[in-house]
Amino acid sequence: MLTGIKAAIIGGDARQLEVIRKLTALNASLYLVGFDQLDHGFTGATKMDLDDLPLGELDALILPVSGSGPGGEIDTIFSNKKIYFTEDILQKTKQSCTVFSGITNPYLTKCTSNANKKHIKLFERDDVAIYNAIPTVEGTIMMVIQHTDFTIHQSNLVVLGFGRVGFSVARTFANLGANVSVGARRSEHIARITEMGFKPFYLDDLENEVESIDVCINTIPAPIITSNVISKMPSHTLIIDLASKPGGTDFRFAEKRGIKALLAPGLPGIVAPKTAGKIIANVLTQLLMDESN
Ligand code: NAP
Repeated sequence: MLTGIKAAIIGGDARQLEVIRKLTALNASLYLVGFDQLDHGFTGATKMDLDDLPLGELDALILPVSGSGPGGEIDTIFSNKKIYFTEDILQKTKQSCTVFSGITNPYLTKCTSNANKKHIKLFERDDVAIYNAIPTVEGTIMMVIQHTDFTIHQSNLVVLGFGRVGFSVARTFANLGANVSVGARRSEHIARITEMGFKPFYLDDLENEVESIDVCINTIPAPIITSNVISKMPSHTLIIDLASKPGGTDFRFAEKRGIKALLAPGLPGIVAPKTAGKIIANVLTQLLMDESN
């Protein structure tokens, strides 16, 4: 149980509802900022403005998955009010107050480190990233179906990157009958790709591997699908870029060449907010329990 734990949830999307549900079910006391348009009430959760938070009493500050904007702006789908997260807010919390977000950015990292606060980036954890790959892959399948006029089955599909998302993308599309090639830079990845029955290639050879592809799915957060690579692709190729913004594709060149290239951020929150929220809520609960012991 989380009896006695006080946490503020500041902004977010539908995923935070699962966090609120789980934390209140475990008897935590929650303060909800940026939820004034949320109709649903939760026993143990109180809506309020940022200025009214009892900052000195908080054990945790839970920010949206995205953390904040580059200037501290907090996104919320449950309010029209502008909310800004500042270092000053953190300075007023007690030393043991922990900040949680999915990812971070230079602004947020500077705030938490200047205020000397523990900052847990949930999406940097392997468990969260692997669970989160499940709705990400389902969203990717949805996008490929929506934006092509051919089946996944028998299509030639290239996956770039063989991390937590790339691995699941490759396996799932292969299970749907696609001819999957995977590009990686590490020899152990090349070995595993081979072992799993996909066609491996080193990323240095990417330009030579795209001449007869139908779909290219990128998971590498670095400029990888360059103009040189795009110019070798057939014109009907669909590029789905899953990597975090700004993605790894030269979108301007793709557009110039008439190749459809889509940056697809935040798929779990779009296609399965409830599951994606539960993934966050489960890990968050465990971390809060560990911290309170
Ligand atoms: P990951 O486990 O760290 O995998 C990243 C992969 O990219 C690894 O294979 C890594 O290779 C490779 N890589 C990174 N930088 C590279 C470079 N400069 N050159 C060549 N290869 C490089 O990350 P992940 O969890 O799979 O996530 C992948 C991306 O998807 C991230 O940007 C993440 O934020 C994003 N994501 C998006 C969604 C969505 O809805 N669109 C959902 C979840 C995650 P090495 O192992 O050799 O370093």
